[in-house]
Amino acid sequence: MAVFELVLTLLLVGAVLAALARRFNVPYPALLALAGAALALLPDVPSVTLDPKLALTLLVAPVLLDAAFDSSPRDLKRNWRAVTGLALAAGGPRRVTGIRCSSKRGGDTTLAGALAVDASGRGSKAPAWLRALGLEPPEEIVVDSLIGYASRWYEAPPPGRWPQNWWWKGIWVDPVPPAIQKGGALFPVEDGQLLLTVAGLGPDVPPADEASLEAFLRGFRTTVLADAVALAKPISKVFSYRQMPNRWRRFERWSERLAGFVVIGDSACAFNPIYAQGMSVAACVAGILADCCRRSGPLSPQLPSAFAKAQAKFLSGPWALATGADFRNSTTAGRPPLANKLLAPYLDAFFETAFDDPTLSILFEEVSQMLRPATAMMHPSVVARVLMRRLNPFVRRRPRDPAVLPPAALVFHDLPPRWLERHAGAAVAPSFSES
Ligand SMILES: Cc1cc2nc3c(=O)[nH]c(=O)nc-3n(C[C@H](O)[C@H](O)[C@H](O)COP(=O)(O)OP(=O)(O)OC[C@H]3O[C@@H](n4cnc5c(N)ncnc54)[C@H](O)[C@@H]3O)c2cc1C
Repeated sequence: MAVFELVLTLLLVGAVLAALARRFNVPYPALLALAGAALALLPDVPSVTLDPKLALTLLVAPVLLDAAFDSSPRDLKRNWRAVTGLALAAGGPRRVTGIRCSSKRGGDTTLAGALAVDASGRGSKAPAWLRALGLEPPEEIVVDSLIGYASRWYEAPPPGRWPQNWWWKGIWVDPVPPAIQKGGALFPVEDGQLLLTVAGLGPDVPPADEASLEAFLRGFRTTVLADAVALAKPISKVFSYRQMPNRWRRFERWSERLAGFVVIGDSACAFNPIYAQGMSVAACVAGILADCCRRSGPLSPQLPSAFAKAQAKFLSGPWALATGADFRNSTTAGRPPLANKLLAPYLDAFFETAFDDPTLSILFEEVSQMLRPATAMMHPSVVARVLMRRLNPFVRRRPRDPAVLPPAALVFHDLPPRWLERHAGAAVAPSFSES
């Protein structure tokens, strides 16, 4: 049976099960899970791979439509405003009782609420809102490596134009600091397209204009990326981004007491986007806020400080990863914490070993995807593994010469299939340097 018909049949079965669940007053997810488990046990069930476009049309579109159907345009219109400040209770202990919003007719209006959550992202105006209330905002730590990056889409050249000795599918070119502070990657994506992403530090930030991009690529440690791009057809403009500093507002150390107001996600702590942690962190801290609300209730005056402490405890791991990596760049101002200096040689050894050791690569991926804490990389068994492999002269090392690497080794590590299934969709791209 074709995938489309099979998925339609499954959707139909799902609808029937949902109706049955309603009839017998049982939770429908439980019934669906049971039916799914029973289906998986049947012999000869075909293995189905869903095309992302089919999933988008068949599954995501109806979910969005359903959400749109349930949402109220009146509420949406009422809330479609820029927040301009915080409203404070008159008299009594200091407490935020709502937010001030820009009004369509000009001026501000106030929306009352039990708890104001600032989730307005990297550009949050929370410090200005607090100053407007006569409060000095908390200390802010900024670690800026002066990095910038740019991306562009290309149509891949027809296979006939691809030189025969280019066996690779995608390529990652590391910088060679301090001489060459720029690098980038070219990856194949759906529909025969290629995605180029390049980054550089300080004076080497990528250009935002199309004309200078080629010269920028030719300044890499190898011209392989520039040569590949020269064969491809650009199908987008160059998208560039420069607002990359790590910024942490230390609400957990704040001496002021302000009930009814918490700051979350990028508003509290924004990371250099190059490390791709922000969305996972924002989702995890939203879970932490939900836990804190459940424990103390959203109205509790203790909630903001309890949440700030719990959030900071969680943030310390991803912060150490992002700033630890940025402090290795010569362009980063300021003094790294002592722990960074002490750990640097070990982390160098860890990454060098991980290149040849899927167990360590997987561990790092799990840490960077927030599945495990950063301290997992320092666990005695991991330290022992790194040391053993570094000191053992008989450990097989992956050859560094691209000419002798098997096809696609630059992009896909030889991870166990079961791990790939468990983390389907996780990109595993070990850094690779041409020798
Ligand atoms: C270029 C770039 C690439 C990134 N790549 C990755 C990646 O690959 N992986 C990853 O995990 N993370 C990535 N991130 C980080 C990720 O996008 C953020 O960490 C995440 O979106 C933070 O979520 P948030 O809800 O805290 O803030 P945001 O997603 O920024 O949401 C804030 C919202 O508040 C709204 N807003 C702002 N001010 C006001 C106001 N005054 N009134 C009303 N609304 C307001 C904004 O319009 C926005 O909708 C990237 C970030 C950037 C900039």
